[in-house]
Amino acid sequence: MNASHKAVGIDIGGTKIAVAAVDSRGTRVARATLATEADQGFPRALERLSTAISDVLRTACWAPADLAGIGIGCTGPVDPRRGLINNPYTLAGWDRCDIVTPLRERFGCPVFLENDADAAAVGECAFGAGRGIDPVVLLTFGTGIGGAAIVRGEIYRGVNGEHPEIGHLPIASDGPQCYCGTRGCLESLASGTAIGEVGQAAGLADTPAVFLAAQGDDPHAREIVARAIDAAATAAWTLCHTFLPQRIILGGGIMENHFHLFARALRDRLAAATQFTRGAVSVEPAALGNDAGLVGAACLAFNEANRPPARTP
Ligand SMILES: [Zn+2]
Repeated sequence: MNASHKAVGIDIGGTKIAVAAVDSRGTRVARATLATEADQGFPRALERLSTAISDVLRTACWAPADLAGIGIGCTGPVDPRRGLINNPYTLAGWDRCDIVTPLRERFGCPVFLENDADAAAVGECAFGAGRGIDPVVLLTFGTGIGGAAIVRGEIYRGVNGEHPEIGHLPIASDGPQCYCGTRGCLESLASGTAIGEVGQAAGLADTPAVFLAAQGDDPHAREIVARAIDAAATAAWTLCHTFLPQRIILGGGIMENHFHLFARALRDRLAAATQFTRGAVSVEPAALGNDAGLVGAACLAFNEANRPPARTP
């Protein structure tokens, strides 16, 4: 067992990558942010990322040999078992890119890869709104919509260890076409991108402008926001009748500003449910904000280091 209290957490998003030296209390001891620049190619991003890891370790006065490992949360799809990023959808050209092997060889420590929503959920369960709660479902509303379920302390996985994309739950069969392959999924109705695009068609500058106008008398803006909130409530209903979590955690940039708007609708919708105990499911905001993925990524290394060794037959 590696008893190290030091790890590196990495959060790879569509536009930026965050890197931090994180201790086992979740403290970010040193950090760096770099642009993803996916279109510059994966090898170049990997080189810049490696430099950022070295810089962060130097600032923290930590040596690679001191680390429990390096954990990576990456906007999906990813293949955690093979350490591959398979995401040409939001990371142009990044398909079947092995990020684990080169970092493991360069830094000489274990490297773990998960979907970014899974990493965020692990972070919230370790240090945030999911502490002592089981099962937990987390939804992050940002540019896209991520989702994750933590069951008995472990990331819920689908076939091949893959991450089920809760953000693409079907909501409205006559909704906008999504790159996921269907129409009217949650992301196509309630993500920042979706809200912004419909807003622009109605003459509103961007997503924040839609929310601002909806607080006033703008009927188009009110309709757009109402549609997003209704989609989120429908998704919560589906998730409660699938996973029946003890808590739904809402995170991401949209929830940092508008949690109460969404939470009220989710709680009202769930209060009408008859097939589980009234009040059994709580809806709470993410506690770690934008750092949930970063901290959770580091926790991937801590959790693995603390896992009891597998029993040999
Ligand atoms: Zn979709």
